[in-house]
Amino acid sequence: MKITSVECYLNQFVTIKVNTDEGIYGWGEAGLAYGNSFEAAFGQCQDFAKLIIGMDPFDTEKIWEHLHRHTFWGMGGGVVITSAMAAIDIACWDIKGKALGVPVYKLLGGKTNDKLRAYASQLQFGWRTLIEEKDNLTLLYDPKDYYDVVKDAMKEGYDAVKIDPVFAPTEPKPLGEIFMTQGTHHRGCYRMHDLKRSVERIAAAREAGGDDLDIIVEIHSLLDANTAAELGKALEPLHIMYYEEPTMPCNPAMFAHIKSKCSLPLATGERSYTRWGFRQFFEDRTLDVIQPDLANTGGITEVKKICDMAQVYDMGVQIHVCGGPIATAAALQVEAVIPNFTIHEEHNANLKSTFVKGGKYYYAPVNGYYTVPELPGIGQEMSDAYIAGAKKVVIAAGGKALVE
Ligand code: MG
Repeated sequence: MKITSVECYLNQFVTIKVNTDEGIYGWGEAGLAYGNSFEAAFGQCQDFAKLIIGMDPFDTEKIWEHLHRHTFWGMGGGVVITSAMAAIDIACWDIKGKALGVPVYKLLGGKTNDKLRAYASQLQFGWRTLIEEKDNLTLLYDPKDYYDVVKDAMKEGYDAVKIDPVFAPTEPKPLGEIFMTQGTHHRGCYRMHDLKRSVERIAAAREAGGDDLDIIVEIHSLLDANTAAELGKALEPLHIMYYEEPTMPCNPAMFAHIKSKCSLPLATGERSYTRWGFRQFFEDRTLDVIQPDLANTGGITEVKKICDMAQVYDMGVQIHVCGGPIATAAALQVEAVIPNFTIHEEHNANLKSTFVKGGKYYYAPVNGYYTVPELPGIGQEMSDAYIAGAKKVVIAAGGKALVE
């Protein structure tokens, strides 16, 4: 089998469709949702597409090495490079599954997990009642709102939630202003007043969920390491499942510092790319749960290696999904296989119509559990509505680009 052309699509998600000489095609996604670097990933997919025309999509290891080593700059990585590699890799696995008539999980070793426990994620931006009202995210300030939003998620059968208690400032501000400034700015040393409010928000979630609710605390790398350790210590009595990105992960040694100061299990991974990006976290054994993003860390081929290495260090896995329906389906295929699967993140952005209508099929947890798609391949493709609204470039034989 040979790859004959690659269709690249840019809409609410960056996706590709890889075509072959046998008429079988596969879908892939570059996991850079939420808008930033969309054009770059779209362009990188086109650049890499030129390098795989004529290759056999069954040769996923060879294609990965080809893009990683033979592109000169590619070996240095960076999320745009590894996201485009991921898009191609996912599409090739989709083709393999379709050609053999089996879901991808069968090709990765079969299921060790029949049902995949999921948590309702990013509740500081609301859950169904608030999101379906506006088809957008909101932002919660008052601890009472955190109590209510946890109850909203639990009504659907979730027994695990994730909340960022520092994203919303203590005093309300316009959402746009927060996203443009405070929401993305390093908070550095946190005032005691703010730290207390963060603890009150999580305490309200604990009160709503009772002793059996699992609570994941997310910080989005907004705190410095000392403040993250202080907050972690203050949260210890609330029994946190894990403490995600308490500080920026670019210097993994900071996680060793936090681990020495507080007892919460630590997690990160969505901003670490390829197995080399996780190396120090493994060697230092500072993480308890890793969160590699399949669609930005290099695809199914790469994430499986990272997950298997994590098992050696007794680390659980929650595959991160900064993407749409294709990235989600690919993550479910891998999570069904790996023995160190911990939990799947159901992001509240998945409740928005861009996600619900973006894929040909709509998958969501039932009573807090996902089941893996059983269709051949990854079990998902993009919808006609998504394709119709997308910018499209086709890379064909000879690397010729056709723009539609
Ligand atoms: Mg996160």
